[in-house]
Amino acid sequence: QPVALGELLSNLADEYSLLAKQKGLQLKVRSQDVQVLSDATYLRRIVQNMLSNAIKYTPKGKVLLSCRLRGEQLLLQVWDTGPGIAEPDLARIFDDFYRIDATAKGQQGVGLGLAVVHRMARVLGHRVTVHSRPGHGTVFSLTLPLLLTQMTRPVEELSRPRSALAGLKVIC
Ligand code: ATP
Ligand code: MG
Repeated sequence: QPVALGELLSNLADEYSLLAKQKGLQLKVRSQDVQVLSDATYLRRIVQNMLSNAIKYTPKGKVLLSCRLRGEQLLLQVWDTGPGIAEPDLARIFDDFYRIDATAKGQQGVGLGLAVVHRMARVLGHRVTVHSRPGHGTVFSLTLPLLLTQMTRPVEELSRPRSALAGLKVIC
């Protein structure tokens, strides 16, 4: 169903700002005031799990929550300047109870946050990817559909052969 992304993300940013501040991390949010086709409860949990990891595993620097339009999709990303995740671990971090010894040491958690992200994204049909540069940082990406709707224009105008998106507009 339609979810107002701007509101959801700014609420999450408020929720995590104190934690970030306590760690001396800069938490930045670049959100878009668009509606996406998702589920508010699941989407909130997915972004929470990504954000809490970014803050938890990043000792210094910044965490950025950003989103931008990509065609009819929305690309939501959580960037951090943490330790990064090496190639062999990238394939396993979404497994139940998997934690990377070196990064997880001394940090609370059971290794289920990303397993939940993976399952919820699959149920919703959203794509999750992760890119990382060990020693530099990590970015988790979520791709989800925008709510598109027909504009109230005469039918003949809509049927003109223009781009595939003609006659459609993004509800903001
Ligand atoms: P929890 O169940 O509380 O989320 P967790 O954070 O250990 O516990 P996951 O969120 O599933 O579990 O993450 C799995 C592991 O992946 C973490 O233990 C950590 O080693 C690694 N990891 C996750 N996010 C990052 C990140 N942003 N930077 C570096 N390592 C990360
Ligand atoms: Mg976690």
